[in-house]
Amino acid sequence: MSQIPPIDAPRSAVQGEAERVDINLGHACNHKCVFCMQSESGIEQKKWVSLDKLREELRFYAEQKGVRSLGLLGGEPTLYPWLEEGLIFAGELGYNDITINTNGFRLGQWEFASMAAERGIRRYCLSIHSEDPAVEDFLSGQKGAFVRKMRAIRNLTKLKASGMRDLTISINAVLNKKNLPTLDRFVKFFKHLGIVDIRFNFIRPEGRAAGRKDIVCTFSEAMPKLMELVALNGREWKIRLSFGEIPYCVYRSDFFKIEPLRRAYIGEYVDRRTFVSTFGNTPGPLSDNDGHQRFIWQDLKMNKLKSFVSACTSCAWREVCGGVWTNYLEMYGDKEFRTLTE
Ligand code: SF4
Repeated sequence: MSQIPPIDAPRSAVQGEAERVDINLGHACNHKCVFCMQSESGIEQKKWVSLDKLREELRFYAEQKGVRSLGLLGGEPTLYPWLEEGLIFAGELGYNDITINTNGFRLGQWEFASMAAERGIRRYCLSIHSEDPAVEDFLSGQKGAFVRKMRAIRNLTKLKASGMRDLTISINAVLNKKNLPTLDRFVKFFKHLGIVDIRFNFIRPEGRAAGRKDIVCTFSEAMPKLMELVALNGREWKIRLSFGEIPYCVYRSDFFKIEPLRRAYIGEYVDRRTFVSTFGNTPGPLSDNDGHQRFIWQDLKMNKLKSFVSACTSCAWREVCGGVWTNYLEMYGDKEFRTLTE
């Protein structure tokens, strides 16, 4: 029997309408990340959404849902051919909080980075997974990826220094077996470059990473490293450091029992419930006849992508935790999870 969730549950887990929308512009990408979940996308999903459909979608969420916060996803959204036109339209509709999740590819070009900032993108979430160029290129499946990502950081930093003070640069890294040993060096390196917002998301073992024990780490391997980062951050770095997609019961209990630590480091506490729109899907229960899907990300994860294990049955956090990636359980089983009583 499930229990009443604790009163300080993460805001993104609370059921109800979403506050922002992420629009997937198409799955086309110039990288081949080893943990890409879109590696099996079909031709239709790889096509860019037309500008007309994008406008329709922006209008729907602005007018029907009152949303003003927008995220642009791909594939690689900086390659989207009508990005500038889409941003102009979003601005006209009143979207005032625009984020791009990117591998940084075109942001290394000054004209492109300036255009993106002038047309309203305020938050840049860069997918960077290692401070070591060889590891980064390996994980991105693209030689030269590290160098291009550094160019993107340099341009964004220059734009920020030139007066765009509200522009924020954050790093979204996928936590995996290759970057785990040097996470402290990773944070130090990027802090030195002026980045003060780093998020580590636990790898989702799907797409190219499915079944790859050389890439997918276990929670037991990852948690001691993350707890080391928490200690170092408290003492030295003092940046916004957070972790995502980690079941609460694998956090060390002396960490998890302290509410301010939960609020500071567990990413779901600051994430907002998010609508997602994707295109080019196979028509079916989740898609309309044009292959268009709309869903709330947190609900899809809980209902389709994650599973509960026997320890979850009477766990006090079950209603908000969402469980464990199903594919992870297929790889490593359920021995690491324990019932939380408070
Ligand atoms: S026991 Fe289950 S519901 Fe509870 S924290 Fe662990 S994974 Fe989440």
